[in-house]
Amino acid sequence: MSAPSVTLTSRARPRVGAHPAASGRETDLARKRRARRINRTLAVGYPDARCDLDFSSPLELLVATVLSAQTTDVRVNQVTPDLFAAFPTAADYAHADPEKIEEIIRPTGFFRAKTRSLIGLGQALVDEYDGDVPDTLEDLVKLPGVGRKTANVVLGDAFDVPGITVDTHLGRLARRMGMTTNEDPVKVERDLAELIERREWTMFSHRMIWHGRRVCHSRKPACGACFLAADCPSFGAAGPTEPASAAHLITSDDREHLLDLAGVDV
Ligand code: SF4
Repeated sequence: MSAPSVTLTSRARPRVGAHPAASGRETDLARKRRARRINRTLAVGYPDARCDLDFSSPLELLVATVLSAQTTDVRVNQVTPDLFAAFPTAADYAHADPEKIEEIIRPTGFFRAKTRSLIGLGQALVDEYDGDVPDTLEDLVKLPGVGRKTANVVLGDAFDVPGITVDTHLGRLARRMGMTTNEDPVKVERDLAELIERREWTMFSHRMIWHGRRVCHSRKPACGACFLAADCPSFGAAGPTEPASAAHLITSDDREHLLDLAGVDV
């Protein structure tokens, strides 16, 4: 998907607390425009944003997403090549020897519970869907161990059906950026769906998650080196505003590109 064109406004350094959204002075229309502008700016920042889990079929993505609970995508990607080779179909999970799955997925943590989920998932897919992964939110969330987040990941990345994936990063960033005040992921999803164009839902989710991993960290966001600072009502609320010290908080491979977008010269 190509990145939409955008004019970056980020080089103007904002003042802490000065954004209209920080004091509730932003209209609904202004919020929608700002949210869409943020999405376009994120597309420039993260032109390669995608799902970080490795997969080549809806079943593989579903399995990888179940494994990703309470661990990193990197760790999941380390075990899935062996898992996918040993269990290529839903029926293979349905009839699996639990110990064989446990042995492979052990590094992802909670491996006994995850093994039970995978076997239950395989059985449900075989019983209800002839071993195929369904392609609607309604059917996906009926599968054991599959919540809205997992369902939206599968819809968006395996079936190309727009979905908003409210994980811990997206929820945090949406609140910081004044796109929602809700904590409940279902309500956050509903609020974001009102703001962002439907066709952009999947990519918007990936971009926000990438920004959360690289710049807008949970404990100490790199506000002073953030290319979204001019559009963010939380600029400086939790992280340093001084560019040089904020820049130290960004360590990803694309650091130079991100700092350049933010107008930070270090
Ligand atoms: S890093 Fe700071 S300025 Fe950037 S999005 Fe997060 S809270 Fe807002």
